[in-house]
Amino acid sequence: MHRREILDWLRVEDERRLNELWRRADEVRRLHVGDEVHLRGLIEFSNHCVRRCAYCGLRAENRRIARYRMTADEILDCARQAVAYGYGTVVLQSGEDPGTQADWLADVVRRIKAETPLAVTLSLGEREDDELALWRKAGADRYLLRFETSNRRLYEQIHPPRPGRRSDRFAILRRLRELGYEVGSGVMIGIPGQTCDDLAEDIDTFRRLRLDMIGVGPYIAHPDTPLGQQRQDRPPETHAGPAVRPGNIASVLAADTAVTHEQVAGTELMTYKTIALARIVCPQANIPSTTALATLNRANGRELGLSRGANVIMPNLTPPRYRCLYQIYPAKACLYETAAECDACLKHRLRAMGRKVGTGRGDSPGHRPITTIP
Ligand code: SAH
Repeated sequence: MHRREILDWLRVEDERRLNELWRRADEVRRLHVGDEVHLRGLIEFSNHCVRRCAYCGLRAENRRIARYRMTADEILDCARQAVAYGYGTVVLQSGEDPGTQADWLADVVRRIKAETPLAVTLSLGEREDDELALWRKAGADRYLLRFETSNRRLYEQIHPPRPGRRSDRFAILRRLRELGYEVGSGVMIGIPGQTCDDLAEDIDTFRRLRLDMIGVGPYIAHPDTPLGQQRQDRPPETHAGPAVRPGNIASVLAADTAVTHEQVAGTELMTYKTIALARIVCPQANIPSTTALATLNRANGRELGLSRGANVIMPNLTPPRYRCLYQIYPAKACLYETAAECDACLKHRLRAMGRKVGTGRGDSPGHRPITTIP
């Protein structure tokens, strides 16, 4: 599917036409990755963060949250729980936390790999090449790093780099691929200043990167962040530079191309469209129906994601006392549930929709490591 067609779909509102998109995405999903839904146990092991991303509640300057770091033993307990629930993967996620020392994490990965059959996915933000190599060598299988938006200018506005450094997530994604990780990325949908044209380019970028995993979800305003504080009708005010009104970005870009540049709506519908299009451009990718989507529609957001292209769910294994402190955005779904409640609820939902609970690690069928482990 070409970029132009992607853009056209993003603008379709007519339900009958959209049914055609859902049917096509569901068919591609069934043909390429089957009816199994893989469950990835999510362990949010640290909410410390040195970055100042304009949208994220974990940002360093947010003094309103208490910070925590789980111990290695606590993480291992969660991993054992994942095995008990029959999950094939654990995802270790955190803020960008230099307090998570590379050797310590390598040891945690080695312990999980030695004690369990689990695949290990890391999602720790932008880390150094040698750290990524060390963790791969310790046995980590996959790495998730969303590029958040392919619009370089918007990216820079909402991601102030650390002093003296550059933030180049595409370079890190290339490095991860060289190291033999399964590589996952994705974007937020409805970032203030993001246009439909940008989102079409994001989806086309998934295709070019030949991603093994694609995670997308709606942007949800967090009141304790610069982006969340601004009123909808006001320009973004970030620490990265002068305020830019979505309309201004649009008019700058309009000079380059004739297409109109309307703001992307951070809605459920736009999220389903993005999931469906991601499935069509990357047929073999593992695509989760994300918590952010379930947050917008608690009744059946996850199910609709799964019937419009997604094939993965990430039940939360983080102990409840920490979970409520990992607020990247407010009112996250499943915030106060225990791992056991999350597990039972999700499996019930899958059975009710006639899908199978995945067995095994649920590796991406398209993944071919191109180098051996260094
Ligand atoms: N520190 C890691 C993990 C971040 S949390 C990293 O930087 O990769 C995982 C994802 O949550 C982010 O990639 C981002 O896309 C999403 N996220 C953060 N804040 C959000 C918000 N306010 N609304 C919706 N999604 C958000």
